[in-house]
Amino acid sequence: MRTKIVAGNWKMHKTLPETITLINELKSIIKTDNKVEVIIAPSFVNLSKAVLLLHDFPISVAAQNMHFADYGAYTGEVSADMLNTIGVNTVILGHSERRAYFNETDDILQQKAEKAYEKGMLNIFCVGEKLEDRTAGKHFEIVKNQLKNALFNLPKQAYKKIVIAYEPVWAIGTGQTATPEQAQEMHKFIRETMAKKYGYDLADSVRILYGGSVKPTNAKEIFSKPDVDGGLIGGASLKAKDFNAIIEAAKS
Ligand code: PEP
Repeated sequence: MRTKIVAGNWKMHKTLPETITLINELKSIIKTDNKVEVIIAPSFVNLSKAVLLLHDFPISVAAQNMHFADYGAYTGEVSADMLNTIGVNTVILGHSERRAYFNETDDILQQKAEKAYEKGMLNIFCVGEKLEDRTAGKHFEIVKNQLKNALFNLPKQAYKKIVIAYEPVWAIGTGQTATPEQAQEMHKFIRETMAKKYGYDLADSVRILYGGSVKPTNAKEIFSKPDVDGGLIGGASLKAKDFNAIIEAAKS
């Protein structure tokens, strides 16, 4: 039995006052239970405050990125230890915006995934094809290679702390969601790919989230698919009411 996860990726949104307001709104409306794990990923500068505000509430705080080095001359970067020591033990890695705008390659992501494992962080690892890949019928191959190149050097035990997020690039922030069938088809493929590499027990235990224009109106149907274990939510996570509705959809 895989517990569902609903994670909100706030991207480069929300100043400190806005972060405080949104977290307080979330605390007032979200009814957490053991059916769904809730995670939010505010910007780096607001992580400490988010951790403080949520010390008495079961929402975990995640970073949207981190560097693979322990420390050093990497201006503007943030390490796993910096995150862990402020109480942030979850990180989103390989988001398509990081891949596209900040040149994050599979090789870089492999190093980041290794560091997350070494430092005991929960790694929400994003994969997903571009529209042209899907049109060319290459979507399975692209996703398989993203998994293989960045994660498949890790040992089996690393997957206790890995969640995969399938986010078709053409569905992120576009309002165009994958159909529940398209999501299920890819999630099943991801699970089969994991099974071939690590065995069926492990594949069956790994949680695979869907991301890409999830909204209160479509969440329930997407989450009802057997291989969809929740969602990574962008735009709709910035409104407490919408994010809460998506969490509720994951419970049913
Ligand atoms: C995301 O950025 O991870 C995402 C899924 O965004 P949106 O929900 O806005 O498509």
